[in-house]
Amino acid sequence: MTLQPPASHFVAGAFREDAAGEAIPVIYPATGEEIARVHAATPAILEEALAAAAAAQPAWAALRPVERGRVLTRAAWLIRERAEELARLETLDTGKPISETRVADWPSCADALEFFGGLAATISGEMIPLGGDWAYTMRVPLGVTVGIGAWNYPTQTAAWKAAPALACGNTMVFKPSELTPLGALRLAGILAEAGAPPGVFSVVQGRGDVGAALAGDARVRKVALTGSVPTGRKVYRLAAEGMRRATLELGGKSPLVIFADADLDAAVGGAMLGNFYSSGQVCSNGTRVFVERSVETEFLARLAARTAAIRIGDPLDESTTFGPLISEAQREKVLGYIAAGRAEGARLVIGGGVPQRPGFYVEPTVFADVTDDMTIAREEIFGPVMCVLAFDTEEEVIARANATEFGLSAGVFTRDLARAHRVIGRIAAGSCWINSYNLTPVEVPFGGTKMSGLGHENGRSAIEHWTEVKTVYVGQGGVDAPW
Ligand code: NDP
Repeated sequence: MTLQPPASHFVAGAFREDAAGEAIPVIYPATGEEIARVHAATPAILEEALAAAAAAQPAWAALRPVERGRVLTRAAWLIRERAEELARLETLDTGKPISETRVADWPSCADALEFFGGLAATISGEMIPLGGDWAYTMRVPLGVTVGIGAWNYPTQTAAWKAAPALACGNTMVFKPSELTPLGALRLAGILAEAGAPPGVFSVVQGRGDVGAALAGDARVRKVALTGSVPTGRKVYRLAAEGMRRATLELGGKSPLVIFADADLDAAVGGAMLGNFYSSGQVCSNGTRVFVERSVETEFLARLAARTAAIRIGDPLDESTTFGPLISEAQREKVLGYIAAGRAEGARLVIGGGVPQRPGFYVEPTVFADVTDDMTIAREEIFGPVMCVLAFDTEEEVIARANATEFGLSAGVFTRDLARAHRVIGRIAAGSCWINSYNLTPVEVPFGGTKMSGLGHENGRSAIEHWTEVKTVYVGQGGVDAPW
C-alpha cells in the first residue's frame, strides 16, 4: 500500500521537494507499514513559503470578500465530490476507522470552508457617530499567519485554521504534525484547484524545529497551534517575542458529570463518545467521568456491555468502530498509564490489554474506583482510557471537576434542566455540553480556558481572532486647536 504524495511540500502554488531535508516515514498505524515518505522543510523551503505568503497577502486581501469566499466554498464542494477518496486518505494517514473519517474529518473541513466562505463577505466594521464628527472601524487582516497542527485531526485542524484565516484576507503557512503529513498537503492542492492564488495557503513538513522557525519569523503576525500544553508554552513565547497574536488549542482532562436522574443509556453513549472515538485521541474528551454513587453500578454494567461490543479491527473495513493509536510511542505511553492505574489501586472494569494484531492498538479501557489523586485522573492520557469516579453531591462534584489545571471541556447529563445549566455554569471550561458530548459543529466557537488554551476557533467570533480593528476618526469641520 502506498500513498506517496507528489512532493513533500506545497509552496507558492505548487508541490515542491527538497530532498536535503530529513526523511520522515509516514507509517500506517494499523499495520506499522510505511505508506509514504516526506522530507522536513529545509531553510530554503521555509523561506520560499514565507516569502510567497508575504507576497500574496496584499492582493488576496484586496479581493472583494465575496471572491475570497467563493474560493473557499468551491474547495468545500471539491472535497464533498471526493469524499470517499479523502476518507480513505485520512484513515491511512491516522489509522482512524473509515466509519469515522467518512463523517468527521474531511466533512468537518468542508463545513469550515463553506461556513467561513459564506462569512467572508459579511466581515465589516461599525460607524460611530460623534455629534458632527464621526469615526468608523474596519476589521483588517493580520497578514502572514502560521498554523501548526497535531496528529489526531490533522485535516480538520488545518481547515479550522485556514478557512477563517483566508476568509479574512490573511495568508497562511501550515505545518502538520510529522506523524500525519498527508491531509493538509491534499487540502493545499484542493484550495489551489479551487482558485487560491499561489502563496495564499502553503504546507511545509517537519518536526517541532520547523514549527518554531515559522512561529518565530519576523514576517508572521499570528500563530495558531493545536497541540500539547508544553508546546503551547513554547509557541506562545515565540509569538510574544514579536508581539504576534496566538490562538492555542491545547490539552485537557475534562470532567463529564452524570447525575442519577440522567437518561443512563444516553450518558453511557456520551461517555463512550467522549473516551473511545478516535481511540481516545481527542483533546476535548471527558476522561474524568463522575457518576452519582447511586447509579454507579448500573452505569458500569451498561458501559461494560457496550464496550465489549466495540469492533476493533481493520480501519478500512466499514464495520470497524475502533482503530489503533497513532504510533508505537503513543501506545507505550497509554500502556504506561494503564499500568499506573492498576498500580495505584484503580479497578479495571474492562480492557487494559493489547489486541493480538499488528499495528498500535490498545483495547478500550475502563477504570472504576478512581480517586482524584491518581495519575490517571490528573494527567492527559490521549488514549482510550476512561476513568470513572463516584460522587455524592452537586457541590462536591463541581469542586472536584474544577480541581485541574486544564479547562478545555465539560459535560453534564441530567434531566433536571435547572441543575444542568447551574452546574455547567460553575465548571471552568471553554467548550461544554449538556446531555451530549464532543459534538463540535463549525458554527459553534471551540476553545479552552486555564492551561487548555487561548482564544477559540470556529463560530462567527473566530473572525475576531483573524482580524484586527483599525479605527478612523473623520473630522467634519475646522480643527479646534488651543494655539
Ligand atoms: P505536540 O504539542 O507534541 O505537537 C503539536 C504540533 O506542534 C506538532 O506539529 C509539533 O510538531 C509542533 N511542535 C512541537 N514543538 C514545537 C515548537 N517548539 N515550536 C513550534 N511547533 C512545535 O502535540 P501532539 O501532536 O502530540 O498532539 C497531542 C496534543 O494536542 C494533546 O495534548 C491534545 O490534547 C492536543 N490537542 C488539542 C486540541 C484542541 O483543539 N484543544 C485538539 C487536538 C489535540 P511535531 O509533532 O512534528 O513534533
